[in-house]
Amino acid sequence: MGADKNLPILVTGASGYIASWIVQYLLEEGYHVRGTVRSTKAYAKIEHLQKMQEKFPDMLDLFEADLMKPGSFDEAAKGCQVVIHTASPFFIQKIKDPQKQLIEPALQGTKNVLNAVNNSSTVERVVLTSSCAAIYGDNADIELIEGGIYTEEHWNTSSSLAHNPYSYSKTVAEKAGWEMQKESGKWTLTTINPGFVMGPSLSNRSDGTSQTYMIDLMNGKFKSGAPDLHFGVVDVRDVAMAHVKAALNYRASGRHICVGEHASFLDFANILREEFPKHKLPKKNAPKFLMYIVGPLMGVNWRFINRNIGIKLNFDNSYIKEDLGMQFMPLKQTLIDHAKQLIQSGLVADKK
Ligand code: NAP
Repeated sequence: MGADKNLPILVTGASGYIASWIVQYLLEEGYHVRGTVRSTKAYAKIEHLQKMQEKFPDMLDLFEADLMKPGSFDEAAKGCQVVIHTASPFFIQKIKDPQKQLIEPALQGTKNVLNAVNNSSTVERVVLTSSCAAIYGDNADIELIEGGIYTEEHWNTSSSLAHNPYSYSKTVAEKAGWEMQKESGKWTLTTINPGFVMGPSLSNRSDGTSQTYMIDLMNGKFKSGAPDLHFGVVDVRDVAMAHVKAALNYRASGRHICVGEHASFLDFANILREEFPKHKLPKKNAPKFLMYIVGPLMGVNWRFINRNIGIKLNFDNSYIKEDLGMQFMPLKQTLIDHAKQLIQSGLVADKK
């Protein structure tokens, strides 16, 4: 059993980095897509979606919706068969009011979207973009994990409003999703839990967190030393494809850790240097004592440094391979394609 091409699929936050690829893949597969955006007049944010509308006439409709407005998603969800809920604020620095900026839009937003699903008589399935941030909080948490490897069984228990609030927002939003699914029972839920997402963007925006990290790395911000941060990494195109597979295959179920490889910032730099030797990429890690000095100036506190710098992560990605048939792109391809996109967009200097 799977999705029917006669009924539209709703993608929330359609202008976003991950969602834009989801929309493109669904259109290429011949599905009618509805995308929500905060404003249909924010042309710079939705330019790439308007190009998709020209390429796939009558196949992509844009609706205005805001996570903080109850009832905002009702009209867009009416008549849809599947809802892919990606919209959620994603930033980890310069947070002044975590409750208002992160928790409320993530949690209340998920509830608003799922209320729209409950109010529609047609939605059968919801795919929620969660995160590995709902699996773990600090890298040091891994020391408490039996076997030293994260699976879909694990939940983030160390994040809070005061510590890693973005990760906390993803955890409470995903939990609310599972609770609402259980209460309703009318639709099925599956989650995609990506690690750190890299790879080319379909828009020229530079304000997303994934974009910012790559722009800073390529433009020399870390030239004297990379923060020794370790991630589970995944290509944005693989993340989008995982959502599409989870949406179309009704047999897919549960949470899905979506990680292709494990790497640090320095690993990113070492891979990129081969292709971009003239860019000021770091050749070593910044010493930890320096992180304690410069971290707070960059909005990173000592507790974060203590519990994350220099600590490796380990994720088991076997379930997503088995349940969704996913295969992951090599990290080298992800990083090179990402850097090339940023050079083409003028966000990173072309030094060739
Ligand atoms: P993004 O480009 O910043 O996308 C976030 C989307 O959420 C944007 O479309 C944004 O709309 C929308 N949004 C934020 N606040 C909203 C509000 N109040 N009302 C309506 N829409 C709102 O970032 P992304 O990386 O694609 O993230 C998409 C999802 O993936 C998020 O749920 C994020 O937590 C998750 N995720 C991302 C990563 C990663 O490394 N990138 C990793 C794991 C999980 P505007 O375009 O109007 O700002």
